[in-house]
Amino acid sequence: MSILTPEKRQILEETKAFVAREIIPNAARYDRTGEFHLFLLEAARESRIFAMAVPKAYGGLDYDAHTQALVLEAWGYGCAGMGTTLAASVLAMDSVLVAGNDEQKKRFFDPMVRGEIGSFGLTEPNAGSDAGNGRTTALRDGDSYVLNGSKCWITNGGYASVFVIYALTDPSKGMKGLSAFIVEKGLPGFTIGTVDHKLGIRSSNTVELLFKDVRVPAANLLGAEGEGMKVAMKTLDLARPAIAALALGIAQRALDACVRHLQSRFPDPKVQPGQTLQFKLADMRIEIEEARELLHHTMALRDAGLPFSVESAMTKTSCADKAMRITAQAVQLMGAHGYTSEIAKLMRDAKIMQIYEGTNQIQRLVISRAVMTPPRPAAAQKGGN
Ligand SMILES: Cc1cc2nc3c(=O)[nH]c(=O)nc-3n(C[C@H](O)[C@H](O)[C@H](O)COP(=O)(O)OP(=O)(O)OC[C@H]3O[C@@H](n4cnc5c(N)ncnc54)[C@H](O)[C@@H]3O)c2cc1C
Repeated sequence: MSILTPEKRQILEETKAFVAREIIPNAARYDRTGEFHLFLLEAARESRIFAMAVPKAYGGLDYDAHTQALVLEAWGYGCAGMGTTLAASVLAMDSVLVAGNDEQKKRFFDPMVRGEIGSFGLTEPNAGSDAGNGRTTALRDGDSYVLNGSKCWITNGGYASVFVIYALTDPSKGMKGLSAFIVEKGLPGFTIGTVDHKLGIRSSNTVELLFKDVRVPAANLLGAEGEGMKVAMKTLDLARPAIAALALGIAQRALDACVRHLQSRFPDPKVQPGQTLQFKLADMRIEIEEARELLHHTMALRDAGLPFSVESAMTKTSCADKAMRITAQAVQLMGAHGYTSEIAKLMRDAKIMQIYEGTNQIQRLVISRAVMTPPRPAAAQKGGN
């Protein structure tokens, strides 16, 4: 854990208190029913936490990336389903931060400041890892773009008041014809389709979005036509560490639960099997601390305005893989108790961390490309020969 300033420590303590009061006591029930945790939006409204990434100029909390990671780890510790709602809302905001003009920022961030949530729609049935393969179109017609098509597996879709939707303004150009739009809830022709039931993060809302001749004002185009893929990739660079933070929270919760259980099941650590199991706990702790260091390093790079794209991919991959490994280990070490208790939820919740916001295989593609690309000599970087 990096050393925290007094201000960050206070934010973390307040967040942990909120998680202990509102999230932890409700997590199992919402996981069981799969119902969306609407109560949480109300409980969090006063704190403006859904506006944690919104700049002060627009009424938000303006937390730096490191602080956002602290908050998301704490939410992931409490319930990754509820944490996903926050992370996905920030993901949508990130697109507006990347490409929005002043007017667009005001319009998008206002609802976040009021405690409402946003949603980010990029994925389609044939366009997940291959995000440039989408078919949803947004064709210009006078002062509007007309959207037709669908998006699937979209977090927060059923409850968001504002969306960032990616659609082809020039289908003949493929991914170079992709553009990003702010789309408001309730526009004629914009409806919710299938609601997905999931293995984990069950209380988060995952839906299909349907667009039938939906007219979006031309002023809602984020950036220029054809810049959608660039905006999406920059957005995901910003957002992937949020998933890493949730994953880390899950892993830490699994370790804490395991320690408590083993202390009562095998109270004498000096005799077997306590000793063997303790070594496993030590390995889990090492993995968690390594992942946290990488996450905080990545956030420090971002907060310093330095490149962090590859670190973002590494952090997401490392934290997600570790969360999966550690939760599976926790279930194993706790035996039937692990398999039949809330610990099993942690293992189910961990799986999605390796899939959404770019699967871990895709992150490894990004990382391996960076590994295989030799750094340019200093002279060439300066434009010399
Ligand atoms: C609960 C949930 C919430 C989600 N929320 C959102 C959201 O809010 N907004 C949004 O836009 N999307 C969202 N998604 C979609 C998510 O981002 C995609 O599922 C993800 O990008 C993977 O795409 P896919 O599922 O189509 O898998 P596919 O692309 O079909 O991949 C299938 C498998 O093939 C592997 N693979 C594919 N291509 C390659 C390659 N080139 N090299 C190596 N391996 C490869 C993948 O790693 C994976 O293992 C969500 C998904 C889920 C399940």
